[in-house]
Amino acid sequence: MPVLLRGLVLPVLADPVPRGAVVVEDGVITYVGPASRAPHLTGEVTEVDAGDGAVVPGMIDAHVHLVADGAADFAGSVVRSSTEQLAARAAANARRTLAAGTVAVRDLGAPDGIAISLGQQVAAGRVPGPEVTAAGRALTAPGGHIPYLGVEVQGPAELAAAARTELTAGAGGVKLVATGGVLTPGSALGNAPFAEDELAAAAAVARAQGRWVAAHAIGHEGTKRALRAGATSVEHGYLLDDETVALMATTGAVLVTTQVAVARMLRNRDLVDPAVVARAEEIRDVAVASLRRAARAGIPIAGASDAGTPFNPHGGVAEEAALLVADIGLTTAQALRAVTATAASCLLRPDLGHLSVGAPGHVVVTGADPLDDVTALTDVRTVVLGGRLVDIPERTT
Ligand SMILES: [Zn+2]
Repeated sequence: MPVLLRGLVLPVLADPVPRGAVVVEDGVITYVGPASRAPHLTGEVTEVDAGDGAVVPGMIDAHVHLVADGAADFAGSVVRSSTEQLAARAAANARRTLAAGTVAVRDLGAPDGIAISLGQQVAAGRVPGPEVTAAGRALTAPGGHIPYLGVEVQGPAELAAAARTELTAGAGGVKLVATGGVLTPGSALGNAPFAEDELAAAAAVARAQGRWVAAHAIGHEGTKRALRAGATSVEHGYLLDDETVALMATTGAVLVTTQVAVARMLRNRDLVDPAVVARAEEIRDVAVASLRRAARAGIPIAGASDAGTPFNPHGGVAEEAALLVADIGLTTAQALRAVTATAASCLLRPDLGHLSVGAPGHVVVTGADPLDDVTALTDVRTVVLGGRLVDIPERTT
């Protein structure tokens, strides 16, 4: 049945349309423009009036971990669960993500092919959820960050082979853990555990197949190596210096910010490992300066949630958009773009994240105008996925 959405329309890649309309037929957007000129639809039509809200593209989250749901002990919650438990949790997280208005995610690390297979099940229409592109297992060095979401590898040949294994299993790209991380004890953020040729070997395999290369990248040295090796996105980017930002501008890599993960963890600091809290506090302020530096240089920014990390349940990418405005100084329009079109570019999905004729019918209605107050993105009233209305359960949080 066709869907007709009316109200303020924010196409993202085109100017806002007050008193606009979006029409979705057979799963595809067939009209975006003034309501007065919308095509006449015959037969039964699902009509949605945005009222004081806005019609926007479904959001895209470029960095999530579907197998984890925000437990205080991130590693333990993964290590102590069976594959069946992790798969069930991932499916529940996918439903939650979709209900919050996120229509596509990129999973950057999960064991046992769980996120890959969830993506395949969603695509086949067997389970509800956002579109999923997944890295499969993250490639990390022996003793490196997030081994429980990845595989420990060393040497160019092993990295290339591991990248090939994940891509053959259905991964949409490769995740390289190029530096230490906040959540792994003993993993200094400045660590650069892989040599450039190791990173380049894995990246070359992915790029030769036209896939994305996401680099977990915090410290300068590892970030630079990953960029020179061919990373298509820098994840987190808490410690970017001018030289690294200049390198990003040259390579065209997208910066994927995950400030919401730090903010939510610090909001629950009493319940998190004190060593992890200390490290998160240490980077919070420098991270703001780092991300502002990148924003000023015009680096494309995708907002992401890093959902699954402590006290960071899925569906929170809208909160990242709010932090991009409040802390990094983006305009509301830039922040909306960060969680829609720019995030879609990380997934190599230029067809997503904007309202255009011919694009998939993934459309969201918010309770207010996000260009006026970007936190409106956290107030999603209607979700249309592929032209079908999604059931939004009662909010429990
Ligand atoms: Zn992550």
